[in-house]
Amino acid sequence: VHDATQCLCETHAHLDDRQFDPDREEVIQRAVEAGVQRIITVGTSLESSRAAIALAERYPAVYAVVGVHPHDAETVDHAALQAVRELAMHPRVVAIGEIGLDFYRDWAPRDAQRAAFQEQLALADEVNKPVVIHIRDQRGENHAYEEVMAALSAWLAERSEVPGSGPGVLHCFSGELETAQRAIDLGFYIGVDGPVTYPNAAALQARIGQLPLERLLLETDCPYLTPQPRRGRRNEPAYLPFIAQKVAELQRVGVGEVTAVTTGSACRLFGLPCDPGRE
Ligand SMILES: [Zn+2]
Ligand SMILES: [Zn+2]
Repeated sequence: VHDATQCLCETHAHLDDRQFDPDREEVIQRAVEAGVQRIITVGTSLESSRAAIALAERYPAVYAVVGVHPHDAETVDHAALQAVRELAMHPRVVAIGEIGLDFYRDWAPRDAQRAAFQEQLALADEVNKPVVIHIRDQRGENHAYEEVMAALSAWLAERSEVPGSGPGVLHCFSGELETAQRAIDLGFYIGVDGPVTYPNAAALQARIGQLPLERLLLETDCPYLTPQPRRGRRNEPAYLPFIAQKVAELQRVGVGEVTAVTTGSACRLFGLPCDPGRE
């Protein structure tokens, strides 16, 4: 089946993770068999960005995102930025990421995170690619969300040209409804992951149910955040249909519609060919 409207697009995986070392090829094959025809694998460091590109070169279903995660913000110096800039020119690279602020783990000093985020936003503008944004706050706080939203508004206001396909995605969204709506007003997509399937996720489920389906993207963030009913195991792109099913339920539409709409959005944002069978 090569009709893109019947295939899911996994928009956020970490296929280079060492948890996939024993069976990476089977993981990709299982995804394709489960109807997940395309997988975007996301770098978190220079090394993992290079690994993402190597996977995208090897497997036709895989595309790469390159950048440095806020956890590794202290590695972002002039040389690292130049390296990301060069990697971004590769034809299988579809975005810059994942970049942003993580005030939950705080593994890098916040000022280093802010600097790395700003530099990579500027780089995305320079190479004219969308951004994959990571935001995580301490429980009950929204400082990272507030700072990222302010930075993204300023970034968009200064951009010479914002691509009609949209500036990017707030991946693994866990913020307030109002924040999602502000991001959507700026043209961003909202990434939906395994936590939406958890029995204790009523607040997140209500938010996802209220957002326009046209602005949602499906992602697993594997090997983390395994959806129900596979929770407790390693996550992988073949589990994306569980997230699609939950989104269909929350949006009160059929899973076929969720598939068609979210795949169309992923193709537009990341510039993927709409018919993978004709590649
Ligand atoms: Zn992330
Ligand atoms: Zn991630």
